[in-house]
Amino acid sequence: MKNEKMLHKISQGMYVLSTQKAACFVDAVSQVGGGDHPLVSVAVMKKNYTNEVMHNTTHFAISIFGKNNDGSIIQTFGFQSSRDVDKFKDVESIEINGIQIPADLVGYMYLEKIDTIENDTHTIFIGKVIEAEQFKEDEAMTYQYYQEHKEEVLKLKTESGKTAWVCQVCGYVYYGEELPDDYECPVCTVGKSYFVKQTK
Ligand code: FE
Repeated sequence: MKNEKMLHKISQGMYVLSTQKAACFVDAVSQVGGGDHPLVSVAVMKKNYTNEVMHNTTHFAISIFGKNNDGSIIQTFGFQSSRDVDKFKDVESIEINGIQIPADLVGYMYLEKIDTIENDTHTIFIGKVIEAEQFKEDEAMTYQYYQEHKEEVLKLKTESGKTAWVCQVCGYVYYGEELPDDYECPVCTVGKSYFVKQTK
């Protein structure tokens, strides 16, 4: 697809999705129904371990990442797999029915899963909000803000004197003069067009 970056213009936020024994960072969260218990959808990549766990769970939580939250939360929840590490090991959390929820973000919604929609790459899970709580006053970080301030948010530092290619989606750094045409980010799988060259 040409102009894949147009998709960055869709307003999205930054969230931690957690369920029993798995959690990951997501951006595609939408409210899709109203009333006392609104419906909220979340899209999760099929290759994520959390997707597998979400299929076998009845409840999940979505926590909102704020502008003043520490970028290490993105690295902890977004750049590694719950298959390999306990993401909550060093993260302060509360627990609801066996689901850990980060305690330092803006707040959370606790949902009952009511539907799933499958497509080639993602599953859309739809949940009914059972409860929601705000922990602090902070503006939610948008995906666009993250894209525009990634170096600052992630405190990214590239080694000086080396040519670096920085993934504009996740911040992964590849060192080398040229990026192979068929290169895929090992963390978030996007292609070469998402990498920006940096020489310092
Ligand atoms: Fe990446």
